[in-house]
Amino acid sequence: MAKFLLFLAVVAAIYLLVRASNRRGNPPGKAGPDPGTEEMARCALCQVHFPRSESRRQDGKDFCCDEHRRLGAGD
Ligand SMILES: [Zn+2]
Repeated sequence: MAKFLLFLAVVAAIYLLVRASNRRGNPPGKAGPDPGTEEMARCALCQVHFPRSESRRQDGKDFCCDEHRRLGAGD
């Protein structure tokens, strides 16, 4: 019976160590690129921020929509 309790204690210790090291290795919110925090761009006309994937680029500037791209290019 004592051996069984010792075995349980060892398993519990290993479990706690693994859980602690996993938590240290992967802090929440800092585990590589997160699809929820995409790189942002800023509209050169209205200065609003939006996902870079939705950017309308022209002359090295980002625009939030086609209308602002047209207006911005007219300057
Ligand atoms: Zn805009």
